[in-house]
Amino acid sequence: MSEESTTVTHPFLDLAPLSAEHFAAVEDRVARLMNTSASQDVVIMQGEALLPLEGAIRGTAGPGTVALNVITGPYGQTFGDWLRDCGATVYDLAVPFHTAVTAEQVRAAFAEHPDIDFVSLVHAEAATGNTNPVAEIGAVVREHGALFYLDAVASIAAEPVLPDAWGVDLCVIGAQKAMGGPAGVSAVSVSERAWQRMAANPQAPRHSYLSLLDWKQRWIDGGRTALLHAPAQLEMLALEACVERIESEGLDALMARHASAAAATRAGTLALGGGLEPYVHEAKDAAPVATTLRAPAGTDARELVAKALAVDPVLPLVAGGGALAAEMIRVNHYGPQATRGVVQSSLAALGGALAEAGFAVDLEGARKAVAAAWV
Ligand SMILES: *Cc1c(COP(=O)(O)O)cnc(C)c1O
Repeated sequence: MSEESTTVTHPFLDLAPLSAEHFAAVEDRVARLMNTSASQDVVIMQGEALLPLEGAIRGTAGPGTVALNVITGPYGQTFGDWLRDCGATVYDLAVPFHTAVTAEQVRAAFAEHPDIDFVSLVHAEAATGNTNPVAEIGAVVREHGALFYLDAVASIAAEPVLPDAWGVDLCVIGAQKAMGGPAGVSAVSVSERAWQRMAANPQAPRHSYLSLLDWKQRWIDGGRTALLHAPAQLEMLALEACVERIESEGLDALMARHASAAAATRAGTLALGGGLEPYVHEAKDAAPVATTLRAPAGTDARELVAKALAVDPVLPLVAGGGALAAEMIRVNHYGPQATRGVVQSSLAALGGALAEAGFAVDLEGARKAVAAAWV
């Protein structure tokens, strides 16, 4: 190696250390994005959102827990598995993926099992394209005094997320969807009640990467002056840049972009025809973060997506996961992809793939419907 090459600084590698003060400042900005007041602590976790999602369940659940686990997509299934693994009694409330759960269904579950003291819910599901009425459900959960756990990874920055106003005790977010940020760090807001539940839980992880209590005791209670371990520096800088970008666009404008993308994808799909349909039946149940479509009978979603991507490989199109792979197409119009151009090109490419397969499609009608629905 030449002498010069060893002295060239690299933008990712040769960074000044990230201080505890800087870490806390990013944490505060994320807290502002989550609209939390002093009644909640926001903790940044140094891993993808599955880390606080699992840490919050293992921290609060144990053999004495009676949980209502709402399943509106694949993540709800996972939360039920973790809860059972903690020894909790779990009542699953599963609704078809093409719809949303209602507050009445949650109320009925409490009536049937009055001892429920924990409710887990996914706000929006990027994997199935639905979104749940958290404000109304939160009111029911509060009436019964249960602890309320919410996965808001796919809703944050795409639609309002108000943990304080909704009485959410544990609200987990990630930056990789609508925020358009890094996937390697995440955050959770924790209410005083949730901290108490964890402190009283002998099974809560302690001295563990999954432990929220470690962050409470060693970071928050210590005045946020010393970090538990080396900060994930690149991810923290990316998170800070991402929050700065959201602040300069405005959170409301960013959410409006996602609402337009979802409405336009839905309207464009209906106008396109060719047997392609919105997967979520009612627009009010459809998530702003991503729109799921049902491939026409007799086609395979994976083949349609592959044909569309062959025309335009940068489009955010993907076939559904697992059992949904053959029938579902996901249009992941989130973050920087929440634009009219992306929606237009996505429907044009899918329309082209359908036309090639012999379906009658109205490309011009779809184009006009997208333009008209974009507000
Ligand atoms: C995307 C997402 C996550 C994070 O999961 P990844 O697959 O790692 O991106 C968690 N919960 C929900 C509801 C999500 O949509």
